[in-house]
Formats: sequence, structure tokens, C-alpha cells
Amino acid sequence: MGRIRLLPDTVASQVAAGEVVERPASIVKELVENSIDAGAREIEVLIRRGGISLVRVIDDGCGMDRDDALLSLERHATSKIRFAADLQAVATLGFRGEALPSIASVSRFRLTTREPHAIAGTEIIVNGGKIDIVRDSGEAPGTQVEVRSLFYNLPARRKFLRSENTESRNIEHQIHLQAIGHPQIAFTLLREDRLVFQLPVTATLSDRIRDLYGAELLERLIQLDGNASGKIQISGFIGQAGLSRQTRAQQLIFVNGRAIESGLITAAIREGYHTALMKGQYPVTFLFLNLDPAAVDVNVHPAKREVRFRDPTAVREAIVHSVQQTLERGRTKWQEKFRAPIAPLSSAPDKVTVDLKLRSEVTSPETSQRELPAVAGFVAPGPFLKPHEVSSQRSIKPDSNEQQFQIIGVLNKLYVLMENVNGLVLVDQHAAHERILFEELRRRMEEEGVPGQKLLLPHTFDLPPRDADWVERNMSILQKMGIGIESFGPNTFKIDSLPAFLNASNPTQFMRKVIDDLKNASTSSSAMRLGEEIIAKTVCRHAVKANDPLRYPEVEKLIRDLLDCEMPYCCPHGRPTMIQISLTELEKKFGRKI
Ligand code: ADP
Ligand code: MG
Repeated sequence: MGRIRLLPDTVASQVAAGEVVERPASIVKELVENSIDAGAREIEVLIRRGGISLVRVIDDGCGMDRDDALLSLERHATSKIRFAADLQAVATLGFRGEALPSIASVSRFRLTTREPHAIAGTEIIVNGGKIDIVRDSGEAPGTQVEVRSLFYNLPARRKFLRSENTESRNIEHQIHLQAIGHPQIAFTLLREDRLVFQLPVTATLSDRIRDLYGAELLERLIQLDGNASGKIQISGFIGQAGLSRQTRAQQLIFVNGRAIESGLITAAIREGYHTALMKGQYPVTFLFLNLDPAAVDVNVHPAKREVRFRDPTAVREAIVHSVQQTLERGRTKWQEKFRAPIAPLSSAPDKVTVDLKLRSEVTSPETSQRELPAVAGFVAPGPFLKPHEVSSQRSIKPDSNEQQFQIIGVLNKLYVLMENVNGLVLVDQHAAHERILFEELRRRMEEEGVPGQKLLLPHTFDLPPRDADWVERNMSILQKMGIGIESFGPNTFKIDSLPAFLNASNPTQFMRKVIDDLKNASTSSSAMRLGEEIIAKTVCRHAVKANDPLRYPEVEKLIRDLLDCEMPYCCPHGRPTMIQISLTELEKKFGRKI
């Protein structure tokens, strides 16, 4: 008996604060959300020393009278919901009535607030949860909250804070989220009294994105196809294929206007991008999901960062579909641009042609290879084109306005340099070839299976038991890919055909490499069975590596085949196949334009 005690209110608040106030960025989040809920048109945030020494948020919202201001500091005091049933359809960002008392219990806190037509405002000063001063104040209408010396009374919590720089960056990210979610509100951020950004009120999301991240990013975004009719509406922007980041910092997701983190949604976005996203990279998204508030539970996480969907499958499908459709539309637009006819070379085209002709006719391929500069001619007379092929290439010299791209040469035996309407294009031959093979393999597998081409002599080879086990399990997929592999005694296999277009010069070596690679993939994905897709990707990667450079398909065909691909701008693993350097970019680099 007598061991259990009711905690004093200030202690209870500090305990609760642990969930809401993790770091300075959580304070900024809660205060800015309050300002938005208060109908502010303009919000200014000032931070010092990563928000640890000071966070100040000023808004021009509805303000509070004295009674409400005092009440707002009580736990579970809120103007935003009244009954449990209201939780089913929360329309405001806040609703838990916890933020202000939690913040005030772990800092030196000052609130000044005034309603638009009130004669005077109210100032309240709270230290460590204890109200010290309540008096009149003469501030402008709206609310101003100052939070100083965060965790001054909880040294243990203070130790968990990161460097001032990291905390500042977290805060900045937090304000980015709010600013993207509310373009109709002006935001200002000051750090140590220096202006970080000042965003004016804008009419549209795209204007806000431009103001915050620049026009260059906006140009690389595609507007999402919102299926306006359905119950789940999706809008906003996503990065075109090939645009990705090393962190999640620009993967912004909003559900009914609330910035959230959701494994379900990020996975769905990934699925939508499919092979258009580089492994380990994150897409750029400004994705807004709107659905019936009753179909989402926002009361899952104290900081309201996570939500629960009543019908997660429907949400997933809607996102995958929308992302796919949007990328598809982006691709068509992109290809049109890529295929726009370019003007025939006006100066010195003859020189280039003559030059090449001379070299290819007068010199042997070996000498031409040595003598040619790294970038030369409009075709690549490099290692993978034989002289007779060079002459056939002359047909693509610019003799009509229909020319869509102009091959300039090959750099380092790997990068094809081309010109198109926009400027310079660099193509990674290997990545391009992988993409072409992959789509071909996938297309044929969908049709009737890939026909194998008989090898002159069947090869037999042994594998360690684990590898053999893997091959046994995946035999049918390999066969469907046109790889004629079968058991030939315990742990021994025979291979007697390969798809013709794979062009592997040493089938056994090729198979060993493929199996090695796939084994790594399968141990990490726990299941021993792998999808067709992964196997196809791996097969293509090794097919390309195994390729003899001399037998490489000629460049022009490669480019045309690539442009015909479904997803031409990256290899099946998501690496870019081509990079465009626009004339504008070149002009900038050469200082012709600023
Ligand atoms: P919640 O936002 O969950 O309601 P808070 O503790 O954040 O809880 O705020 C408590 C109440 O104080 C709010 O419901 C709101 O009525 C009032 N309030 C807080 N911040 C502001 C503000 N900036 N302007 C006007 N009213 C505010
Ligand atoms: Mg709140």
C-alpha cells in the first residue's frame, strides 16, 4: 500500500512531452500546425542554435482571448474536437490538445496572442510547466510563441539532441513540408537572424515548388494524373524517370493535407516507378492523396506522422496506377522532344564526312583507331564497327530535315555522343544495350517464350550443391527465357541452347556468372525462388558484360532500338542510359549566359 501515486500535472506533462517533443523540429511542427489551423496567411519562424536555444513562431491567425490562452496550456485542451466521434473525421492538423502543455513543460515558454478586434492581447510566461506571469500585451493580432532553452530542466533529454546543424536541417525540412502542403500561406524562415527563405503566397503548388526548389527541378517533374472520379484522389508532381535522390528529403507525401510518412505509400510509389528508379535511390515526389477522412485514421502516432488506411489495398493500387500512368505520359512527351527533327548541320558537315571517308578508306581499322581523336566523325569508327559498316553508316549523314539525332562519336569506347534539338546527349552503350535486351526478353517471355538457339556443342558443367539446388528450383523460368538447361546427373547440368540475341561467347562461364549473381539476390530476399523479372535483369547484365566489343551492334541501331524501348532512359537496374546536356546548360558553363 502507498506505493502508487498520482503524478503531479507538470511531471505528467513532461512524460507526455517525450512523445510529442522529440527534438526542436517537432516543436516547429506543432507550432506551425497550430498557426495553420488558426487560419494564418503568413507564418514566420526564427530559430537559434538549431532551435535548442530558441524557436519563435509568429502568425497572423485568429489569436485567442485570455481564457482560451490559459486553457490552451492545459493538457487535453483543444478547440478542434469535442466528441470521440469527431476523431473519425478530423479536418484540422491538430486535435490532441497536447502540444502546447508538452512544449511548455520542457522549456522556457512565452505565448502572446491577440484576437483581431480585441483592445489588448495576453502574454503568458511559463517555465518548466509552471505559469509565472499572465499580463496584457500590445502585440499585433495573431499569436507568437517563443520556446527557449529546450530541455533545460531535463538534462538527460538534452543529451539526445544532435548537432545544431542537424537540428537546423530537420527544422528546415519540417517547414518545407508545411510550405509545400500550404502554398496559399507565406512562410519565412530565419536562422540566427539571417534569412534562409521567404516564400510569398502563391496560387499553385507548382509556383511554390519553383520558389522553394528552383525552376530546374520543376522542369523535371510531371504532374500526377489524378483520377478525379474515384474515391481516392491523387494529385501533385513526381520526378520523371531518371530523376532520383540519395535521401528521402524530397519524397514528400500528404494525406488530406497532412505531411506523413508511410511505408505503404513509399512502397507503392516504388512499384509504380518499377525499373525507372535506380537501386538505393529515392524518387522525388510531391504527392497529395485525398480521400474521405473517415477512411483514414490519423490518431495512430502521437506526433501524427503516421496514418492507417481502412482500405490499404485500394490506396496502394491507386498510387501504383497513377505513378505508372504519369511516367508513361512523361515518356511520350520526352520521346517527342528527343525525336524532334534537328536542323541539318550548316557549317563544316562535309569536312566531317570527308574526313571519315578518308580515314575509313585509306587507313586500316587498327590505325584509324589509333589516329582518331577520342571524339571524331558522326559515327563511331571505334572498336566495334568494321570498315564496311562505316561506309553503310554514311546513309545517316544529314541529308534531310528528318534527322532526329546526329551521332557525333564515341567517347572512351563507351559513351555515344549525339546531338539533338536540345543540345548534347550522352548515351551509355552498356546501359542502353542492357535495357534493349531486357525489354526484348520480357516481351518474348510474355508472348510465347524465348526461342533458344542451339549451341554447336552442348556444354556440361558442375555446380556446388546449393547452387545446383537453386538451378533446379528456377529451371522452368530459365527455360522460358530460352536458356536450354537441364539436369545431367547429380549437381551436373547440360546447356545446349541460348537465346540468339544474348550473344554469350562462353555459355558455361556466362551461366556461372548469372547463377552467382542470382544466388546473392536470393539469399538476401530469403526466398529461394526469384521472380522472372530479377532473373531477366541479371541475365541481361551478364549478356552485356560477356559481349565482345567487336560484335557490338552498330551504334545507330542501338540508339534507334533504345528510343523504341518502353522505358528508354534507364537500364533495368535504374542506372541512366542517357544524359542530356542542354544548350542552355552549355551556355551557362561557357559564361555566355548567367
Ligand atoms: P491541438 O492543436 O491538438 O488542439 P495544442 O496544444 O497544439 O492542441 O493547442 C491547444 C489549443 O490552443 C488549440 O486547439 C487552439 O485552439 C489553441 N491554439 C494553439 N496555437 C494557436 C495559434 N497559433 N493561434 C490560435 N490558437 C491557437
Ligand atoms: Mg496543435
